[in-house]
Order: sequence, then C-alpha cells, then structure tokens
Amino acid sequence: MELKDSVIAITGGGQGLGLAMAHLLGGRGATLALLDVDGDALDKAVSGLHESGIEARAFLVDVADETSVKQAFADIASSLGPVRGLVNNAGIVRDALMVKAKDGKVVKTMSVEHWQQVIDVNLTGVFLCGREAACQMIESGKEGVIVNISSISRAGNMGQSNYAAAKAGVVALTTTWAAELARYGIRVGAVAPGFIETEMTASMREDILDKLTNGIPLRRLGQPDDIAESVAFIMENRYFTGRVIECDGGLRL
Ligand code: NAP
Repeated sequence: MELKDSVIAITGGGQGLGLAMAHLLGGRGATLALLDVDGDALDKAVSGLHESGIEARAFLVDVADETSVKQAFADIASSLGPVRGLVNNAGIVRDALMVKAKDGKVVKTMSVEHWQQVIDVNLTGVFLCGREAACQMIESGKEGVIVNISSISRAGNMGQSNYAAAKAGVVALTTTWAAELARYGIRVGAVAPGFIETEMTASMREDILDKLTNGIPLRRLGQPDDIAESVAFIMENRYFTGRVIECDGGLRL
C-alpha cells in the first residue's frame, strides 16, 4: 500500500512504540490518527508530529470499550476520511505468577481482575478496532492493511498468563482476518517484538537488563524504530498477509 496520503490509525499512539511508528509512517507521507486513553500523551505526541511536518490528529479512546471505539472510528472518518491502515498497538501488562507458593503454602495468585484487564485491552481491543477499521476499508472500496502488535511472549512466558494468552490470540486473529478479508483487498499481518528499549526496560535493574541483553544473539535491546520498520514493511509489501514478523534480535530461536 502506498503510505503517502493514506489515513493510518495507531492505537496506543501517544507514546512508546506507537509514537515511533507514527513518526516513521508519517515521515513517509501518511496522515495519522493517534488513538490513546492518555489525553496528555496524545496532545504532546500530536504537537511533536506537527513540528516534524506530519499531519496527525488525536482521538481519545478506550480500545476495550465498544462504544468508545465506534465513536473514535466514526470521528476519524468524518474528520480525516476512512482509514486505509490500522496498527493495533495499545497494550498493557499486569504480570503475576498464576499461583505463587512458599513452603508448600499458596501466598498469591493472579487475580481475575488482572487477567480480565489484559484480555480486554490486548485482545478484545484488537478485535474491536480491527472490526471498525475493516468496515471502513470495505466500504471505501480501496485496499487496506491491518497490523497487530503481538509479542515474543505469545509463545508463553512465566508471570504473564494473561499477556501471553492475549498475544497468542492476536496472532490467531491475524491469520483468521487475513483469510476472511483478502477478498476485499485487505491484508493483515503481525509483529512480535522482543525486548525493546522503552520506558519499561529503562526502569529495570541494570544487572537484570545485562543478563537479558547477553541472552539476545544480537547482544542489544531492540529500538522502537526496529519495530516501526517492521510495521512499515507489512504496510508496504503487497504480497505479505497472514504472517508474523518476529523482530527480537534472534532471542526466540
Ligand atoms: P506503552 O509505552 O505502555 O504504550 C502503550 C500506550 O497504549 C500507552 O499510551 C497507553 O496509555 C495506551 N493504552 C493503554 N490502554 C489503553 C486503552 N484501553 N485504550 C487506548 N490506549 C491504551 O507500551 P509500548 O512499550 O510502546 O508497547 C506497545 C505495544 O507493543 C503493546 O501492545 C506491547 O504489548 C507491545 N510490546 C512491547 C514490547 C516492549 O519491549 N516495549 C515488547 C513486546 C511487545 P497509558 O500509558 O495511559 O496506559
């Protein structure tokens, strides 16, 4: 798909990886709709994009809420035109072991609230935004692309029952939608990042970070731009659909 003048929606676009994607796709001429729950982050992100000469608008949304998502996509269509691209990037973590025990006694379990919050944002949010975007793409009669952000954790990761299950589900949605939507000229791909240098990793203890980095064949954390480049590849490559790009420095061999 030609990025120039295409309306691309990015959820969780107010900061982190979503913002890096906005700068890269916007630098190639896309018009951006940034969707996020954090209004301050959104405003800051949009002014930064404008300073770089990129056309962008902010849309306050909770991706886990159907009414909020429907409203946001209707607002995008009426202010910028129908979306041609969507990056389902918004995500949260609520890590805990499913069951933690000490001396044969259970001391803690993952709460159903934390299970549900992660499933709601990271899986239901992807479904809701993907559905609205696909409706607009089909009715506009033009080709479209959906990119879902999964994670290396989709293969299973200790302390992340909720997150791993949601991120595996995101890949299942990707292959399902690729099959369902190809007839309308819509391609669907996913990116599964490894450990990326963001605020999250910056707050980790140095010795833990060193150990982690030493286990990555490329011996460094990924940069947000590495992920943004993977998203742009899926958007632009017309023969790519139904597959996952694993961008993790070789960590998952
Ligand atoms: P981030 O810095 O936390 O950014 C995510 C953004 O999404 C935040 O602005 C967040 O707002 C927003 N958001 C949270 N819940 C939302 C909701 N219900 N509706 C709309 N927006 C919501 O995360 P990131 O590190 O850039 O990660 C982006 C994506 O990549 C996520 O899907 C994550 O799982 C995935 N990923 C990241 C890494 C990594 O190393 N960073 C690795 C693998 C996969 P608040 O700040 O207010 O919550």
